[in-house]
Amino acid sequence: MAASDAFVGLGSNMADPSTQLAGAVARLAALSKTELVAQSPFYSSKPVGPQDQPDFVNGAVWLRTQLTALELLDQLQAIEQAHGRERIRHWGPRTLDLDLLLYGDETITSERLTVPHAELTNRDFVIQPLLDLDPQRRLPDGRSLASLRQQCPDNNLQKLNPVARIPTPPG
Ligand code: AMP
Repeated sequence: MAASDAFVGLGSNMADPSTQLAGAVARLAALSKTELVAQSPFYSSKPVGPQDQPDFVNGAVWLRTQLTALELLDQLQAIEQAHGRERIRHWGPRTLDLDLLLYGDETITSERLTVPHAELTNRDFVIQPLLDLDPQRRLPDGRSLASLRQQCPDNNLQKLNPVARIPTPPG
């Protein structure tokens, strides 16, 4: 199977979020049939929804993968589980959230998967890391990330210092 460019969004607001994200990047880089092309800076942002929870840290990675979109989703969910993800309430705190944002130029609407990700167009903490990775990238419908970034609401995004070290994935 030919390789596809896949963009994965990462988010966390529990248990040392930047470390959660760095660990997830290491696991994504170690996936079979998959190569890590680039990693975005991490950003902190105010939570969407309930405000009585810690700020989020978000980022994104660019992967080149021979996994199908559904196979990749399976892997993302396995990594979320490995990070002890807890969903206490909708839009509430979470240890690790991984979203398949873009998969090549494909538009996918199935029971388990909506690609481009449904929240991509109105979240600055999703669009900005994608812009960092590939400023020229467009959605399958032709809209540019740059134009979406200008239109979406402001979540008080703050760029964080680079992560000093990417840990080796366990086991
Ligand atoms: P959430 O925890 O809010 O990210 O939602 C997880 C659910 O969203 C899972 O049941 C997935 O099957 C579904 N889902 C639909 N589209 C996507 C996508 N592009 N990336 C990740 N999960 C998705």
